[in-house]
Amino acid sequence: MTIQFPFDNSYATLPERFYARLDPTPVAQPGLIAVNAALAGELGLDPEALRSDDGLQVLAGNRVPTGADPLAQAYAGHQFGGWSPQLGDGRAILIGEVIDSKGIRRDIQLKGSGRTPFSRMGDGRAWIGPVIREYLVSEAMHALGIPTTRALAAVTTGEVVLREAPLPGAVLTRVASSHIRVGTFQYFAARQDTEALRVLTDHVIARHFPEAPDALAMLKAAIAAQARLVAQWMGVGFIHGVMNTDNTHVAGETIDYGPCAFMDRYHPETVFSSIDQFGRYAYARQPEIVVWNLAQLATTLLPLIDADQDRAIAVATDAVHSFPELYSAEWLAVFRAKIGLTSAEDGDAGLIQTLLSRMATLGADFTNTFRGLADGTARDQFTDRAAFDTWAEDWHARRARDGADTAQQEDLMRRSNPAIIPRNHRVEEAIQASVSGDYAPFLKLLDRLSHPFSLDPDDATFTRPPEPGEEVKQTFCGT
Ligand code: AMP
Ligand code: MG
Repeated sequence: MTIQFPFDNSYATLPERFYARLDPTPVAQPGLIAVNAALAGELGLDPEALRSDDGLQVLAGNRVPTGADPLAQAYAGHQFGGWSPQLGDGRAILIGEVIDSKGIRRDIQLKGSGRTPFSRMGDGRAWIGPVIREYLVSEAMHALGIPTTRALAAVTTGEVVLREAPLPGAVLTRVASSHIRVGTFQYFAARQDTEALRVLTDHVIARHFPEAPDALAMLKAAIAAQARLVAQWMGVGFIHGVMNTDNTHVAGETIDYGPCAFMDRYHPETVFSSIDQFGRYAYARQPEIVVWNLAQLATTLLPLIDADQDRAIAVATDAVHSFPELYSAEWLAVFRAKIGLTSAEDGDAGLIQTLLSRMATLGADFTNTFRGLADGTARDQFTDRAAFDTWAEDWHARRARDGADTAQQEDLMRRSNPAIIPRNHRVEEAIQASVSGDYAPFLKLLDRLSHPFSLDPDDATFTRPPEPGEEVKQTFCGT
């Protein structure tokens, strides 16, 4: 059996300085972990052919399929606020693009596929832990209805990767609407390569924002997309962990799952990343960080926005300054639905904030509190139930003024509050098992994450927050 990809590559037609052309580095002994059959179907790929030996060779980087044009993309970025003029795909290779069943262009990329000219000190490889984490969390995100890169497949390499210990190597096949980051724009801006910026902007407009007539409109669309994305993250308690400009997708797709995690107990200052010592990318700081990243995007676009620099700065600044208002509206829409409101009143933000601040003080589980609102179990999440009850009096009064009836409100809440998220201790459990070659916990969790808004009778293992001994306090980087 031979796997055929209906490639239609566009990034590879951009100027040579956008990337380095090279093949993935072959691995010793590919082994299949998983193939995402539903996603394969959307991409016009035969899942059985992907699972065949030929498919496995392609997914491991051992065979370059017909029509592929493998390359590593160049980009730069601010990492934890510090500037790196050259990052780029140091352990990933774009093998090509396909047009999916909805007519959308999608990148197919191997991550963990060997060294590239952008690897710097790295080995270009991934160990199985971050591959399993990205697979689980990105697919969970998709099932939650949040824009994200996807996981098409995961394979082992039969090689050992040296991290804190020798660990099994793996390759993730990632699918994305593109891999263009704020850092891609920064790469060319730093080189004062206005011509490349123009080409990149045209490419992004054609690909992501066809209705945008120019660079300023593209910037505004990128800002709106990120405002919506981060509000959706906040609504499910997601913490990205490494919101560097190179990990900020220009069209508002969640990308680069490294030390990311979903919160159990709600606290706005929650951080998981082992490398985020100062809480720069804590849960509640995500909106201010993304606007900082978008200001970097705006800066790169100035020469394209207006030949008169003062005018360019004025309109770009206005666009960036529109973020808080856009974000507040998105956040309110997300959280109003979470508390079952179909209408808007001025006091709604305050009502939601009061609930959140009591959750923070009283150790309430984020997911189970919101899910419990529709079925009367939310109060059980609070060590002081009266604190919930006094809030609920105001909430019930507000619901009584809402246009929808109780059944409609409860239905809205069940559609807006997942019962199942990839709890970090379950993700860690799946990773630990996979290190010893047992993929059953990973596959079981993956399957359960595919329908997060329904609650099954035997779901207790997935809905239960970690016991003190199970709690994962730090998540290590993807490297
Ligand atoms: P990340 O923190 O995962 O977004 O990666 C930041 C930069 O480091 C990117 O340029 C990556 O390609 C590069 N990088 C991360 N891990 C490795 C690795 N194992 N080998 C080579 N480059 C890497
Ligand atoms: Mg990255």
